[in-house]
Amino acid sequence: MEGKVLIDGKWQNPESGDCLSVTDPSDGTEFSKIARGKAEDVEKAVKSAQAALDGEWGRMIPVERGRLLHALGQQILEHEEELAELESRDVGKPLRQSRIDVRACARYFEFYAGAVDKIHGQTIPYLEGYTVLTLREPHGVTGHIIPWNYPMQIIGRTIGGALTMGNACVLKPGEEASLTSLKIGELSQKAGFPAGVFNIVPGLGEEAGEALLKNPGVDHYSFTGSTEIGIKVQKEAAQRAVPVTLELGGKSPQLVFADADLEKALPFLVNAAIQNAGQTCSAATRVLIEKPVFEELSEKLAKAIKALRAGPALHDLECGPLISKTQKERVEGFLQRARQDGIEFLAEGSIVEDAPEGGNYLAPCMVGSVPPRHSLAQEEVFGPLLVTMPFEGEEEAIELANSTVYGLVSGVWARDGGRQLRVAKRLKSGQVFINNYGAGGGVELPFGGVKLSGHGREKGFEALYGFSVTKTIAIHHG
Ligand code: NAD
Repeated sequence: MEGKVLIDGKWQNPESGDCLSVTDPSDGTEFSKIARGKAEDVEKAVKSAQAALDGEWGRMIPVERGRLLHALGQQILEHEEELAELESRDVGKPLRQSRIDVRACARYFEFYAGAVDKIHGQTIPYLEGYTVLTLREPHGVTGHIIPWNYPMQIIGRTIGGALTMGNACVLKPGEEASLTSLKIGELSQKAGFPAGVFNIVPGLGEEAGEALLKNPGVDHYSFTGSTEIGIKVQKEAAQRAVPVTLELGGKSPQLVFADADLEKALPFLVNAAIQNAGQTCSAATRVLIEKPVFEELSEKLAKAIKALRAGPALHDLECGPLISKTQKERVEGFLQRARQDGIEFLAEGSIVEDAPEGGNYLAPCMVGSVPPRHSLAQEEVFGPLLVTMPFEGEEEAIELANSTVYGLVSGVWARDGGRQLRVAKRLKSGQVFINNYGAGGGVELPFGGVKLSGHGREKGFEALYGFSVTKTIAIHHG
């Protein structure tokens, strides 16, 4: 696996022979290498996926695909600890989070294994003498470009959904963290997927990623990553009128009304902002608080943030390092500008004393009363930062919540049932959680954004419509 691409069921050297080194964000040491795949590798991978569609995979009945998906889920569970440690070293996330990611990944394959033969077409009442039916067919070769922050969860939802509908996949993982993707590729072989069904070409975005986008053999793209690159993906796919699912960035709000159960809300508010050191697309970094409880809740939040510790991923504390030096510097830039703008820092956690010098650590922090147009209230920071903002009444809460270019996830905390639904319906986001945040991950729950958070849905049954296309057959029998 080390330094290899997975094409046509074989682990091979990339055509160029080049590799990229893999750095541990917890201490800055290089501990592995991945292939630096390029256009020639992508071309081979796409060809092998096409061959798989023309072969056994293309003819396989759904229940058999389901058995393979289930077997892969089992393989992932059997390798839980190995995968979790690999992910923690590669991404820098605390072990507890990596274990959640492994189980979520396995759960996607289990869920889709059960769903595979339950996606039906329709028969449509039509003119005298006709019978009309619809079939759901795979797109063909699907290209998957994913980021480094949740590789296993994203593989589960995107590769899982695509394979369920009978597509053959080419995956380009994030160059900063590809190791668990490669391991899952290996496990897919153990599970018995035919050669060419799941190909992996690691490498740089501007090389392997762009080559995948430009390859005329790809029939659908699923992109998860930044809004900037997502827009590029859509433009490139538009040249060939190829459909795209875009899972992009966010600046998700949690709206806390004065009647909310603050004690219940507290751990959700903290975790949703700080999880994975804030490097989560759905991180709820904006906590909007109704004025009568602003002081009280701010104090509780500050106390909780102060207690958070950042340290090496394998020490399994509340917060790990950031993925890279560049990402750390980017977040520090945001914080520095906020200080210059007079934003108040209300609380700061700590970095443990034995955290290695070379790690990319930042203490989790919380800032208060951020003006609505400030960059901390508008831009995706992707660091361990919680922003608080006061509001007065439902109208202002909704206006503030909807005031960014993003629309991925929102949280509403209130006891008043009418308010819960009134507000939820007016929030511009793909998911709304009431008196919880994330609902435990929910592989069954359709997920995706509106506005610059993207379009299309993954997770749940809905993903399966996106990973397939309807064919209408009209029969005239007189
Ligand atoms: P990124 O956009 O820089 O990279 C994502 C992927 O795109 C990587 O594999 C990268 O190599 C590839 N890429 C980069 N340039 C490319 C190009 N020119 N052509 C083709 N591919 C290219 O994002 P990132 O920094 O890896 O991840 C963080 C971002 O991902 C955040 O904005 C986060 O919100 C978003 N994200 C969204 C979701 C979601 O489900 N909505 C989930 C996780 C992360």
